[in-house]
Amino acid sequence: MAARQRVISVFLAQGLAGLMLMLWLTWIRQDQVTDVFQRLGPNAWIVIAVFIAFAITLALLKFGLTDKIYVSLVMTAFMAFFPLLGGVLTAWIAVVVSIGTRILGMRQIGPTKISVDDPITEWVRTFGLFGTYGIPVIAAATLYEYLGGEVPALHATPPAAARIALCGLVMIAVNNLIMFRAARAYGYSLAKIVKIDLVDSSIYVLTIPYAVVTAMSYAAIGWGAVVALAFTGGVANFIARNLAVTRTRSRQQLQRLASLTQIGKTISLRFTTEELLMAIYTECRKVIDCSLFSIALYDDHRDELAFELDIRDEQVLPKERMPLGEGLNSWVVKHHQPLLLGSTADERKLGLRSVPDTKASESWLGVPMMTRDRVIGVISVESYRKHAFTSDDVFLLTAIANQAAVAIENAQLYKDLEGLTYALEQRVLERTNELRETNLRLLAADRSKNQFLANMSHELRTPLNSIIGFSSVLIEASRSTFPARMHKFLENIHTAGNHLLELINDILDLSKIEAGRMELRADVFDLRETIAAVERVMRGFAAEAKVQIFSTTDPNVPEVRLDEGRLKQILFNLLSNAVKFSPHGGIVAINCRFVPKSDSPIAVDTVRIDVADQGIGIPAEEMQRIFDEFYQTEEGRRARGGGTGLGLSLTRNFVELHHGRIEVKSKPGEGSTFTLYLPVDFDEVSKTPPRAPGLAVQAPV
Ligand code: ADP
Repeated sequence: MAARQRVISVFLAQGLAGLMLMLWLTWIRQDQVTDVFQRLGPNAWIVIAVFIAFAITLALLKFGLTDKIYVSLVMTAFMAFFPLLGGVLTAWIAVVVSIGTRILGMRQIGPTKISVDDPITEWVRTFGLFGTYGIPVIAAATLYEYLGGEVPALHATPPAAARIALCGLVMIAVNNLIMFRAARAYGYSLAKIVKIDLVDSSIYVLTIPYAVVTAMSYAAIGWGAVVALAFTGGVANFIARNLAVTRTRSRQQLQRLASLTQIGKTISLRFTTEELLMAIYTECRKVIDCSLFSIALYDDHRDELAFELDIRDEQVLPKERMPLGEGLNSWVVKHHQPLLLGSTADERKLGLRSVPDTKASESWLGVPMMTRDRVIGVISVESYRKHAFTSDDVFLLTAIANQAAVAIENAQLYKDLEGLTYALEQRVLERTNELRETNLRLLAADRSKNQFLANMSHELRTPLNSIIGFSSVLIEASRSTFPARMHKFLENIHTAGNHLLELINDILDLSKIEAGRMELRADVFDLRETIAAVERVMRGFAAEAKVQIFSTTDPNVPEVRLDEGRLKQILFNLLSNAVKFSPHGGIVAINCRFVPKSDSPIAVDTVRIDVADQGIGIPAEEMQRIFDEFYQTEEGRRARGGGTGLGLSLTRNFVELHHGRIEVKSKPGEGSTFTLYLPVDFDEVSKTPPRAPGLAVQAPV
């Protein structure tokens, strides 16, 4: 604000000084004005008209020379005409023309447009022109007369030319001097002011000879020459302006192209929508000169525009939502097309109505942000100047909008993905908790089941023992007294009772194993005797089935330390299956041998027992499952009804409890071989944790 006040006071002072000086000079040099009119006669009006036309042309056609300075050659006109019209007339015409053209610029009329961000400063600057041009013209004209220069200059002599040239120089110097204070007020550094003055002055110095020739030509040839020269000057200025403007534009295009590439890079690195929108704004500002900027995203669910970023004069405005309606942004969303308006009049002409604003802008440009034929929003820029945006800006903003659309969509996808990941994590967490609870419930249920089975088995066994015992006594006692049919009934009771007892025992064992309460009692014994004992018991059953059992034991099989009772159970199970599934006349072979630690699959000194039959065999796909509780093969059930499906499950459990391993090889229709690997010394291996799994299946034999 302090800088603004300085600028205002400098221009005010300079304008006032110029105005006072001009009024005073006009008052005291009335004679000069009348003299000029007298001596030029009717040509006076022609010369004045040419001067005005020439000065206006030069003042209007300002051109950008560097990024900072706008050059106007208007002083050339003043330098050419002060020797003809004198200081008073020249100063007034100069000031009126420069003020007039500046007002046109402020009103956005003509080729040069002045942005009116701060109207008071702009008007004071305009008033300051009394000083900017009034004082230099008066200074130059006064010196000219002081040096003996004639007004109007009617003699084209070398001294007259020299005087005009010298005073032209003075006019330039005084102008620079006056502008120095203004430049300081703007906060320019000394070096920068010197640079601007040098560029400015050297351009004017180049035009001094032209100004001298124009002034002198009236004396030599008449007003026709003045018209011709002024016209040539105007054309030259026009060409120079176009060249300068074209050069500036092409530099701008290049810069925009570079910015565009940069924008792509910058915005693709932003992950949150907020950051991304801000980055788009920052990049846009570098290439498009605008006072208002907004990004509105289209919410197709609610048919609304959400202004996610709204910036006016560098102030971020609060976010707003608006239903899709008649506004300019809505037009862009509905038509999938950019919209460029040069002024509020254009807006009315098109029958459009922008959303009412506190400070209305003149120019409006909005482009749709499109991804795959879908409008996701609008980027719009506005300016208080009329016709501030060109078709180049439309291209540029469209290119930015396309990149922005992709980046915004990516940011949204990223956000969605984050949300989904979070939801998924929650679900997993919930499910894990549910599973944990279920597991606890199952464990509790399992414990109750095992307890129930143990109780039930115990309760059932007591009466069963009576049934089996008494039926056995009755069978013996009634052999001769009961009729044969009754006797058979008794035998059936006895067999069924035994079967039931076996089943109960098996269930009891399994529930003990599951509950982890099955313990082995290892003792040293001779395997030959154990196998022989099992064989003896099985022989009767085998004879009934017309199957023969053979057993061989290698001489090097040592004594073992295992749970003999469980081993017998294992062998009974395997043998009874082998017999059960063998055809009449089949042979069941038991083979027992020693396997040293180095060759054993259980990596300790091992006894290996094979039980081989020539029975129905087991299909490959069922080999794994026969060790499951209650599982029976289709073929097995059909061939020999009965059985419980518990024998092999128990067998496997006993083998594993021994840290051993059971394998099966089989081929349907040809037979099966079950192979046991058991440690020679269970006590030794039980010190190390059991190796799982203790089961291997293989097909065929
Ligand atoms: P069970 O013999 O009481 O049915 P097991 O658990 O001992 O129960 O056996 C499970 C199933 O495995 C048997 O029903 C049978 O289908 C199959 N099986 C077991 N041993 C043999 C064998 N030696 N030959 C053919 N199938 C067999």
